[in-house]
Amino acid sequence: MQKINAVKGMNDILPEHSYNWLWLEEQFRVWLASYGYENIRTPIVEDTRLFIRSIGEITDIVEKEMYTFTDSLNGDNLTLRPEGTAGTLRAVIEHNLLYNSTQKLWYIGQMFRHERPQKGRYRQFYQLGVEALGFKGPDIDSEIILMQQDLWHRLGISANDVELQINCLGNKIERALHRENLIKYFEQHLDILDEDARRRLHKNPLRILDTKNPAMQNLVLDAPKLIDHLGDESLEHYTQWKCNLTNLGIKFVENPRLVRGLDYYNLSVFEWVSASLGAQGTLAAGGRYDPLIEELGGKPNYAIGFAIGIERVLLTLQELNKIPLKPGVEVFVANYGANTQSLSFKAAMLLRQNGYHVIQNLGDSSFKSQLKRAAGLNSRVCLIIGETEVVNKQVMVKFMEEQHQEAVPVDNLVNYLDSYLNRITKK
Ligand code: ATP
Ligand code: MG
Repeated sequence: MQKINAVKGMNDILPEHSYNWLWLEEQFRVWLASYGYENIRTPIVEDTRLFIRSIGEITDIVEKEMYTFTDSLNGDNLTLRPEGTAGTLRAVIEHNLLYNSTQKLWYIGQMFRHERPQKGRYRQFYQLGVEALGFKGPDIDSEIILMQQDLWHRLGISANDVELQINCLGNKIERALHRENLIKYFEQHLDILDEDARRRLHKNPLRILDTKNPAMQNLVLDAPKLIDHLGDESLEHYTQWKCNLTNLGIKFVENPRLVRGLDYYNLSVFEWVSASLGAQGTLAAGGRYDPLIEELGGKPNYAIGFAIGIERVLLTLQELNKIPLKPGVEVFVANYGANTQSLSFKAAMLLRQNGYHVIQNLGDSSFKSQLKRAAGLNSRVCLIIGETEVVNKQVMVKFMEEQHQEAVPVDNLVNYLDSYLNRITKK
């Protein structure tokens, strides 16, 4: 039969790597809890209109990256989520979570974008997303940055490994003014614009600033800057934010071209860029998106958030050698000879009930190959159960690294191991 393989750009995460993910997710959970964020889980599939309305019609994602399909059973137009903010906000509004209340939410999960697969860019990838809703800022804007810097620090990514870029996108009126000037400017340089840019010129010229086309970099660099169109209130928000960051000792670079690939942002926006991943260097990105709540049918309110690309963080951590070694199984139980199986089951269960991670020999492998297996599993302890042990109600405890072994009565096994391994009893 012909093999059926995974869909291009969608990866399996096998046991040799999945422990990295479990480890990283545990770091995330501890970190998020320490800032008071709560988990939210929304569907992977949403009504297509949700993404068009929130991300914006003239964006890379909506124009060419969405997995959109018609449900053949009822004709619904659905999309696999390309990002998590739209679904989260939809749920928050649908369940009225902002009624007299603020929310600090996080989620983790697969996102889908039909992009050209390469290192750090996939068609199914994972994001950790954080959304703080109901806070006007700019204090929350600073806490959001502080907490991300704290995460890098916890993971062993130093300030030299990742650069924080920030910008201020102002409000709708300021952006409209900037937009007019941008159009005028680009119209004077039509010859340099590529096809994408020409198409976007009168629809969403801000997107042109986000171009990755090298031939347009100089043009874009000299384009009118949004910052020069900001009014007092936006400038005050931006200045206060920068001032907070400086006081907190956080280094940042102002990037006037940072516009983000989604339409819903206003005021503060930021990206954390790792030097080691080239064009796929953005580890995390986000900003304020106050208008989106109203856009999706909620009452006017405040919102800020960011998303972290988990594969890119893992790639960075691998390059920096910051991922802990795969933990071995604590105890392997070997048995050989007649009637040794039931004591083997008993010892394994006893240890598991006391918090140990145990793998027991199953099947009839030779004693030698069982010991090899114990070593291959990187286990600290191998229990050996032969016919003599069964008669004496004992097990032979072999410490794999220490080259030491000792017969221990089954009834005393847990105490013995607890104290030998200097372990805090998990009873
Ligand atoms: P890029 O400029 O690299 O395309 P983006 O602006 O499209 O990124 P966001 O929509 O802001 O990315 O998503 C937040 C984070 O999710 C990114 O910074 C990145 O780490 C990760 N990410 C985005 N797209 C992909 C992808 N196709 N594969 C892997 N990770 C991704
Ligand atoms: Mg993108």
